[in-house]
Amino acid sequence: MKNLLFTLIVLTVVSSCKEKEKEIPTSSEAAAQLFYNGEILSMQADKPDYLEAVVEQDGKIVFVGSKKYAATNFPNAKMIDLQGKTMLPGFIDPHSHFGMVSSSMGQVDLNSPPVGEVANIEDIMQKMKKYKSENNIPDGEWIFGWGYDESQLKEKRHPNKREIDAVLPNNPVYLVHTSGHMGVANSKALEKLKVTSETKDPDGGTIERFPNSKEPSGLVQETAMYPFMGNMMMILQKKQEEFFDATQDYYASNGITTAQDGMTDRNAIEFFQSQADAGKFKIDLITLGGYTELETNLNDSLINWKTYDNRFKVQGTKIIADGSPQGKTAFFTEAFLTPVPGCESDCKGLPSLTQETLNDLFVLAYKNDNQLFIHSNGDASIDMIIAAHENACEKLNQHLDKDRRTIVIHSQFVRPDQLEIYKKYNMEPSFFTNHAYFWGDVHVENLGEKRAFFLSPIASADKLSLKYTNHSDATVTPIDPLFTVWSAVNRVSRTGKTIGPDEKATPYQALKAITSHAAYEFFEEETKGSLSLGKLADFVILDQNPLLVDPMKIKDIKVVETIKEGKSIFKL
Ligand SMILES: [Zn+2]
Repeated sequence: MKNLLFTLIVLTVVSSCKEKEKEIPTSSEAAAQLFYNGEILSMQADKPDYLEAVVEQDGKIVFVGSKKYAATNFPNAKMIDLQGKTMLPGFIDPHSHFGMVSSSMGQVDLNSPPVGEVANIEDIMQKMKKYKSENNIPDGEWIFGWGYDESQLKEKRHPNKREIDAVLPNNPVYLVHTSGHMGVANSKALEKLKVTSETKDPDGGTIERFPNSKEPSGLVQETAMYPFMGNMMMILQKKQEEFFDATQDYYASNGITTAQDGMTDRNAIEFFQSQADAGKFKIDLITLGGYTELETNLNDSLINWKTYDNRFKVQGTKIIADGSPQGKTAFFTEAFLTPVPGCESDCKGLPSLTQETLNDLFVLAYKNDNQLFIHSNGDASIDMIIAAHENACEKLNQHLDKDRRTIVIHSQFVRPDQLEIYKKYNMEPSFFTNHAYFWGDVHVENLGEKRAFFLSPIASADKLSLKYTNHSDATVTPIDPLFTVWSAVNRVSRTGKTIGPDEKATPYQALKAITSHAAYEFFEEETKGSLSLGKLADFVILDQNPLLVDPMKIKDIKVVETIKEGKSIFKL
């Protein structure tokens, strides 16, 4: 019944859109492919719009409109019967970490359900021990784990170095917290990176100590974890080539045709460029240079800003302005309601950079027309970004609303008044609604309902016509774009609570956040993000239509096939 009703809707829409029956001339004789008999969602308009047929040739969309017209005008086209499945533009990843996804393949998975199976600290230790013995890792070699989440452990606390020492006394070990903003090192690892009782906390970071002592417990947060993360990335980067193909396949199996590496240092940029030069990319990869290298990057004529070279480009610069809300290191105007490690009173979290440094970075970037992507979760941090934006525009005598598309990545606890400023200044939020599921309950506890319920407010952003996107921040949460659609639409927490019913997105809004809006985020709206004439033939085919299934079942929809510029790169 649903299908019949649907067919009628499709026919009505298609027949009223005759102007879509256009084609563009193609130069080559390459075989065309004609996709039909599916629920083909164009994602072109503000409201759902279905197409009867799409023709691909030479990697581009050369026709959208009626099947009859397509068949007459492309008599040699290969007919692709979608058999009622749903076709959409290939998903564009608004923010994840391709490099971290890749390196997670060389680490021990310490995630709790539903991603992994870790329930308590003992599980972590057993997994680490097993990894060493199964992989015959010699003493002295680094071992890394990723994805543990103390809020999901039975003990509700971070592991400490003594617990790791007990199972792995002879290897330096570093366990990365699921937020990516902190981690736990064992004694050997602390020794290697020269962190002792005498080491002072760096600005913007904390080295946690055992109670009533100066001895580090192993937990290092924010800037204090940078040396550990840097060391890990350096070691795992050597293995990047080994995992490069598997990582691309993983993104493709999730329907993603354009991926992101959300903060890329110079070594990694060079590595990706070498893969691009060797023609090894199957999907497009957008990287963001690190802010500590902004000046050097801007002066490097080898960095190819904003335009693809063999499917790879450096789009802009990533700045980290605060920490993570669940790790209580995001920077708020009002205090956390629960105790914050390393803080006595009025604990509002931390900015990662001073206002002065942020101001300098904005001026440097805006002067050079460099697109900024700023990690910012708490509202106080967002205030700092807005101030840096205003300061740079004034200093450089630029319009506040110039089309530079400064992206505030996460914007999780943006206030309503700040959303209006985004609109006024042509800034865009890239939201993170998966938090509603993974940490929604924790946010209610730590921040209170009012703040927690306005987490990643897609409904409010849509009312302001912002071009919000919605991301996974993988490896922080699983890469699956349909899960982000599910979390945006339902906002259900692990305990089944609805985190902000007023901010629920419609399925169509949630899809725009990973298609048309995501193309806009990267200035790619001319070539990607919707099924329209002349755009790249990047498609994802799903077994069910996210607009028609029970909203709670959206996360169970399967990617059947992913097509990049006309070529199938994943098939179930
Ligand atoms: Zn990130």
